[in-house]
Amino acid sequence: MPYARHQVDEADLAAVVEAMQGDWLTQGPWVARFEEAVAAFCGAPHAVAFASGTAALQAAYCAAGVGPQDEVVTTPLTFAATVNAAVLRGARPIFVDVRADTLNLDVAAAARVDPARIRAIVPVDFAGLPCDYEALLSLARSREWLVIQDAAHSFGAAAHGRRVGTLADLTVFSFHPAKAITSGEGGMVVTHDAGLAARLRRVRHHGIEYRDAARPWDYSIAEPGLNARLTDFQCALGCSQLAKAEKFLARRAALAERYRARLAGSPFLSLPALPDGVSHAWHLFVVLLELDRLREGRDRILMALRAENIGVHVHYPLVHLLAFYRQTFGTGEGLCPVAERLAPRLMTLPLFPAMSEEDQDDVLTALDKVLTHFAR
Ligand SMILES: *Cc1c(COP(=O)(O)O)cnc(C)c1O
Repeated sequence: MPYARHQVDEADLAAVVEAMQGDWLTQGPWVARFEEAVAAFCGAPHAVAFASGTAALQAAYCAAGVGPQDEVVTTPLTFAATVNAAVLRGARPIFVDVRADTLNLDVAAAARVDPARIRAIVPVDFAGLPCDYEALLSLARSREWLVIQDAAHSFGAAAHGRRVGTLADLTVFSFHPAKAITSGEGGMVVTHDAGLAARLRRVRHHGIEYRDAARPWDYSIAEPGLNARLTDFQCALGCSQLAKAEKFLARRAALAERYRARLAGSPFLSLPALPDGVSHAWHLFVVLLELDRLREGRDRILMALRAENIGVHVHYPLVHLLAFYRQTFGTGEGLCPVAERLAPRLMTLPLFPAMSEEDQDDVLTALDKVLTHFAR
């Protein structure tokens, strides 16, 4: 059993076939349809589709004007792409610690960094739980930092009644098959700002600016951009998947609720906090092992569960401890003590909409067997 799995049905297949029979394989009418549908889903005015979540992040940093003189504040507990994309633009990452309860970026720690060169703050809604946006947005406004929200995990989540996509200046989604909905590969940036949206579209297509739509050979380059377009048939898949997003989210929430009920009170693990006023997208179900009650470390437990055919996983190795970051920015142990204390305890259990309660019971049985076996 994998830790994540996409769910594709007949309607998805029909949508892809229909798009492929049209006149366009790369950008065509489905791109705008998917963008409009995602914008409407989020309640935001603009959405720009990209070839991947990573390409969407790169374009977001570019649209935000992040460059070699700049620093960006972010969390070490994320997929490396969040930070790689900023570094590829020449920026320096400033890692701030996470909160021990939610595992999300600690806004109080962000308030303590030297703001002189900071251009943007990049929160990541870890596992699908929105960060503390009340505090984060008020800090960002007082410092004039742009907020680039890595919402790869939190498509469909909400904070204080506002859906993810309406909180930050730029909100970045991924439609990788492990995520809430999929377009194969794919990503999207959602924004309230028409100027940022226009720059995102330009970056997506090489940075090209046409002088006159009737003379497509006569163009200029406003800034060097990417080819980060999402194909028409992928957007058709995205549209078809989006129609099922609420159903997928509800299923994830029901399974997560069931996990939480069954795991509450276990002596061998604890669960991240669920603050009031937020709705969780449940991209990942993450537990924290109580290693002082276990004879073996996390990796041995992972291997034992995988031997039981349970696809447990780890999200994530901390970015500031990865080789490139150590070598280039001199980061290392001690920089983010809370994240460093918690990271060796993190384990992700399987969670995806197609999972049955029987599948989930298999996970719980194997987990109980392995943890009891390794009890101290
Ligand atoms: C999945 C993910 C990305 C990258 O998205 P891709 O579509 O795989 O490029 C970026 N950040 C986080 C936190 C992710 O989980």
